[in-house]
Amino acid sequence: MRIDILTIFPEMFGETIHSSILGRAEENGILEFHAHNIRDYSANKHHNTDDYPYGGGAGMVMLAQPIFDCVEAVTAQSAIKPRCIYMGPRGKRLTTALARELACEERLLILAGHYEGIDERVMTLMDDEISIGDYVLTGGELPAMVLIDCLSRFIPGVLGSDESAEEESFSGSGLLEYPQYTRPASFRGLDVPEVLLNGNHAEIQKWRRRKALLTTAENRPDLLMTASLSEKDIEYLRQCGFEI
Ligand code: SAM
Repeated sequence: MRIDILTIFPEMFGETIHSSILGRAEENGILEFHAHNIRDYSANKHHNTDDYPYGGGAGMVMLAQPIFDCVEAVTAQSAIKPRCIYMGPRGKRLTTALARELACEERLLILAGHYEGIDERVMTLMDDEISIGDYVLTGGELPAMVLIDCLSRFIPGVLGSDESAEEESFSGSGLLEYPQYTRPASFRGLDVPEVLLNGNHAEIQKWRRRKALLTTAENRPDLLMTASLSEKDIEYLRQCGFEI
């Protein structure tokens, strides 16, 4: 997949998208990242990328012209038409389902806004507006990185065979994940639960399921509405005092 990022701070993408699992995917030719500076496309002699909002109000708005020119020039760099995404708090919320859907695309173009946001006319070029959550950040660069990291995990070959995107929080059963431990079995008086040490896989599965149910009921009870729960799961939660 080719990912083009349009930003006024391309340097923010430096190490982040070229390291770790994403860096390995890039080396293996599965992912290709290109960060483009919107400022390079400004027709203004001072290379401005923003101006005051019509109608007044606080802050600046990103100009349509440099973004239009940047989107058009970058799109033309490859024969594959990109799916164009604006990162914005008003957008549809990023979920596992949306990340899986985007992971099937061959090419994405991601626009990161700044200041009060972008001139609304830019949205005529975009296919989606995506939010990473119900809060406002100073710019779209971190949301773009979150989106890239999240969807990359669903591109075949990005995760190694010992890393799975299936048995995770929000995947499969729709529950949050159970607690994990690694060696040593005892650390500063804190012991790994006995059940994980005895090699009884049925018992381990039962313990993990119950922990996942409890964590979800405590932290995100809303997820229980859509999770696939058995009669036994419901009975266990009720025994533990949760109303379901
Ligand atoms: N005035 C905008 C509003 O109230 O909806 C917020 C603009 S925000 C300060 C600047 C930029 O950060 C936005 O253009 C967007 O690209 C990015 N941004 C901020 N919060 C975001 C979020 N939750 N999800 C995605 N992008 C976000």
